[in-house]
Amino acid sequence: MQSIDYIYRFDPENPSAKPSPPDPAAAKRALENGNRTFSQWMESCAANTPSPDPSRFVVMCNAWEMGVQRVGDAPPKPNPFAVVVGCSDPRVPTEMLFGQGFNDLFVIRVAGNVLGSECLGSIDFALSALRESVKVLVVLGHSGCGAVTGAVDAYLQPPRFWSKAISPNLRAIEQRIFVAVREAANGLEQVWGSDAKQQPGFREALVDAAVGINAAQAALDLRQEVERAGTTGIEVLYGIYNLSTHRVTSPLQGEEAAGEARSQLDYAPTNPSDFNRLAVVVAEQLLRKRKQRIN
Ligand SMILES: [Zn+2]
Repeated sequence: MQSIDYIYRFDPENPSAKPSPPDPAAAKRALENGNRTFSQWMESCAANTPSPDPSRFVVMCNAWEMGVQRVGDAPPKPNPFAVVVGCSDPRVPTEMLFGQGFNDLFVIRVAGNVLGSECLGSIDFALSALRESVKVLVVLGHSGCGAVTGAVDAYLQPPRFWSKAISPNLRAIEQRIFVAVREAANGLEQVWGSDAKQQPGFREALVDAAVGINAAQAALDLRQEVERAGTTGIEVLYGIYNLSTHRVTSPLQGEEAAGEARSQLDYAPTNPSDFNRLAVVVAEQLLRKRKQRIN
């Protein structure tokens, strides 16, 4: 395998190479296009199949956003077009996987991408102080999330949850994820049957389903936060980053996503009743996946 370069490039001939997206639709496209290019590049690196230049991924940078060209002595003003709430997991580097650089994203990372008060306070800050530039709020979950897996294991074995091995602070994170785990378990029972828990692959499926519903839950909460603040002109989105394919997709599409949907964010649910539909759709996907594995 050849060496791989991830490059942030500033071109002095074209100093404003990366204009900020003017509206939510353009901001959504910028993130999706960035992830599409990134995931294709990662795929070509892994497969060692030369496409235009598989060893390099170039993120163009704007000289003013980087602070290498200045107006007077002032440093650049914060100018993010997206607020992203993601997991702290080191395998999910937010800017890299969306192909973004300096001053593009206002990133909040917390295990399990749960919305505690400090997290919501950071979002309130972004919604007021950075109101001019922010066009979208994004919740980004990811496959194989340790925090969600912990919540699933605690759900399946309640005594473990109350053991001294789990700190109260960690327990607080897992508690926030329980609603999603319960909804995911209901969806699996609806689709797989009442004996779902006894079927092979149930725990892994519960983790996969809960990851999607947990992100959707946080996205709904953020949508309500935006509405409470009376903010207009900001869209709330969510998606799941797959550690294997490096793609961000909607849980409604999952690994079955094709074409443009291979890198796609979804709009936040508008109603808590959407979660059951999501849980059923994800449970159906997971059932098809299990059948494919068996055949
Ligand atoms: Zn995680």
